[in-house]
Amino acid sequence: VGVLLDPIKRFDNFIRLWQLGYTGFVRAMELLEEKAEISDRPGAMPLRDVKGSISFTDISFHYDDDAQKVLDGVSLRIAPGEFVALVGPSGVGKSTLCSLIPRFYDVVGGSVSIDGHDVRDVTLASLRQNIGVVQQDVYLFSGSVEENLRYGRPDASDEDIVAAAKAANAHEFILALPEGYKSEIGQRGVKLSGGQRQRLTIARAFLKNPAVLIFDEATSALDNESERAVQKALLGLARGRTTLVIAHRLSTVRHADRIVVLTNDGIVEEGTHDQLMARDGVYAGLHSVQASI
Ligand code: ADP
Ligand code: MG
Repeated sequence: VGVLLDPIKRFDNFIRLWQLGYTGFVRAMELLEEKAEISDRPGAMPLRDVKGSISFTDISFHYDDDAQKVLDGVSLRIAPGEFVALVGPSGVGKSTLCSLIPRFYDVVGGSVSIDGHDVRDVTLASLRQNIGVVQQDVYLFSGSVEENLRYGRPDASDEDIVAAAKAANAHEFILALPEGYKSEIGQRGVKLSGGQRQRLTIARAFLKNPAVLIFDEATSALDNESERAVQKALLGLARGRTTLVIAHRLSTVRHADRIVVLTNDGIVEEGTHDQLMARDGVYAGLHSVQASI
């Protein structure tokens, strides 16, 4: 039985299981169930009045039982309202670490908690309701700009949507599209730049208004104007929320209350930009190699 990675592979698995015949299919489905699917624990309580403290306590994680651990013994505490930039080489587990907060995956060891509640003890719906995830592409779908924004809060009024787009520095470019908010985006729609897509996902997060924000910054280059617009939108969105940014740009890192450096050895350095530059360690090295992190 293969691993369940994404919907496509899942469907692929499903077809293969189907071909095993009914008995094989049922047995295989039972095996899959045993693979600890993410779901509500019996008696799970909704998370309420979230302040936004996050604790990773001695966590370990691997994607497959036979695979090497991606994270091993990592601990990190983030205070309510704190802005933390997570930096480090590619492939060390930054995205994985962030994905444990909304329970896209569960830890193998240790625990992740929000306001002191283990994320596995609260309902998934209430957990995810309180966490905004901003990534460049992943969550934009084919449809109009307006539909894509409304996904952040289905009952949002048109005024709410425009206000969110303005807050995200997106209103102007949306109005300049052929059909404004009704313009179709996605494969058959208008082409948006990376910075524009990112601002749409930021606008959507404004509508959702979560206590905790996870921002996976674009790795590809944005032009200067786009970068400034995204930066401004992000800082506006981060205000009053706990924010964890996987940061690739010095401009973002410099704004952080704290920079956390993750490598294959775990968290190796923490501090402000000036503190870490003075330390002349991994962060300073990353910084001089890449010019912008
Ligand atoms: P980073 O964000 O620091 O670049 P990731 O968290 O994306 O690192 O990846 C950490 C490790 O986990 C990498 O070796 C990557 O190949 C692996 N990995 C990431 N996502 C998956 C997945 N869905 N299934 C299996 N392995 C994965
Ligand atoms: Mg990543």
